Amino acid sequence: MFTLPKLLFNPSKLTVCMDESIMDIHYGKHHNAYVTKLNAALKDYPELLNKNILDILLNKDSLPESIKTAVVNNGGGHYNHSFFWEIITDKKTDPSAKLLEQITKDFNSVENLQKEVTAKAMTVFGSGWTWLAYNLKNKKLEIINTANQDIISSTDLKPIFVIDIWEHAYYVKYQNRRLDFLQDFWSIVNWDAISAKFEDCL
Ligand code: MN
Repeated sequence: MFTLPKLLFNPSKLTVCMDESIMDIHYGKHHNAYVTKLNAALKDYPELLNKNILDILLNKDSLPESIKTAVVNNGGGHYNHSFFWEIITDKKTDPSAKLLEQITKDFNSVENLQKEVTAKAMTVFGSGWTWLAYNLKNKKLEIINTANQDIISSTDLKPIFVIDIWEHAYYVKYQNRRLDFLQDFWSIVNWDAISAKFEDCL
């Protein structure tokens, strides 16, 4: 069975983007619904219930046709949100020396990386996610959008950061001001977690 991950931050300590009541809905209702529906879709497939969700999603073409859409949507919702919570913190963090070196090489500065991620996130049409991923082939960081609950499907691209661009992620606090949400988001980003994910790729 899949379960909600434990949050590594205290929602009541966040000063921007989210608070306890928003997390009650976003994590407690939206994310929880993805987990419940994923388990329901897989109830007759115990071998899949014991697998890693990323492995299931990367091999979605081998899923039975009758459950494929439900698993892609709800499994993607579970994987993407679990990833998203991991890169949020209520503490002050900074990129590690190795990540800073890579960011400087590929984007000149952290500030410029943030500008480019924000600009890419502003182009998401409808619902989706904006990722920062490390390309194992050319050894560069790339900014990628995925639609709906799609994950990054290339195994050459290792995600190290993601922002939820579904309206439910920002509408309660920011209404249609997606740019304000994105600009505020940088102050709750967990650079320790992103650095660890990046260094796992090396
Ligand atoms: Mn969401």
